Amino acid sequence: MELLVGGWKPFSLVDVQGAITFTVWACGCNLKCPFCHNWRQAEWMDCAPFLEERFLNDLMESREFVDYVHLTGGEPTLQPELVKKISSLSKSNGVPFSLNTNCTTKQALELIRLADHVAFDVKVPFPALSGLDGKAGAVWETFERCTDELAKSGKPVEIRVPVAKGLTSKHVDVVKRIVYKFDPEKARVVVNPLVGPPLTEPRDEGWCKEHCYPGRMDEEEERFWASQFPEYKVKVKRWIE
Ligand code: SF4
Repeated sequence: MELLVGGWKPFSLVDVQGAITFTVWACGCNLKCPFCHNWRQAEWMDCAPFLEERFLNDLMESREFVDYVHLTGGEPTLQPELVKKISSLSKSNGVPFSLNTNCTTKQALELIRLADHVAFDVKVPFPALSGLDGKAGAVWETFERCTDELAKSGKPVEIRVPVAKGLTSKHVDVVKRIVYKFDPEKARVVVNPLVGPPLTEPRDEGWCKEHCYPGRMDEEEERFWASQFPEYKVKVKRWIE
């Protein structure tokens, strides 16, 4: 099967917290998150074949300056051969490989082993944030297994928490339970308040009107999230200051 990507950016300061990355966007995704900004690529639109030679040329020019090649999406594990290819090209050129996965596919359970660093979201409430509604149960079980495996592996991880308006303490407890699977020395928590148009172009604007923040969280809510994981390094993201 042809390997399909949305493109890549040889230098990025915004894809992994505190790191410079060479970021590659994979096409396709198994989830339907209503807040997704990359939904076109997730739906296999705006995609092009992966051109290895061009990728290698760009990697050669940037490899001394980047901390990771970061493969994101979409959901990269829908194209296992792409994950293997990018992992191998990165490592053979001396650049550690970082994988952003939603950790909800069977393939992810295997492919996380190839990564030197893994980023994943904790989407809570999962049925609404994954867009799977009534079909979310088995997929969440895979997510639990994937995060168990990752925690056991001891790899460095970035745990991203997309926050919709109106989460309850029950939801926060689920996020904490997932975060606390990980060694605080190996995990960084990034809290992402979900924002809607005009700052973003989400898959479901109607959903976002109701559940996304107009710009940023108020300061009290930011402080709340910043204090929830005292043993961990936590960053609460702001789209606008
Ligand atoms: S998992 Fe990521 S790429 Fe897939 S639909 Fe959700 S936000 Fe979009």
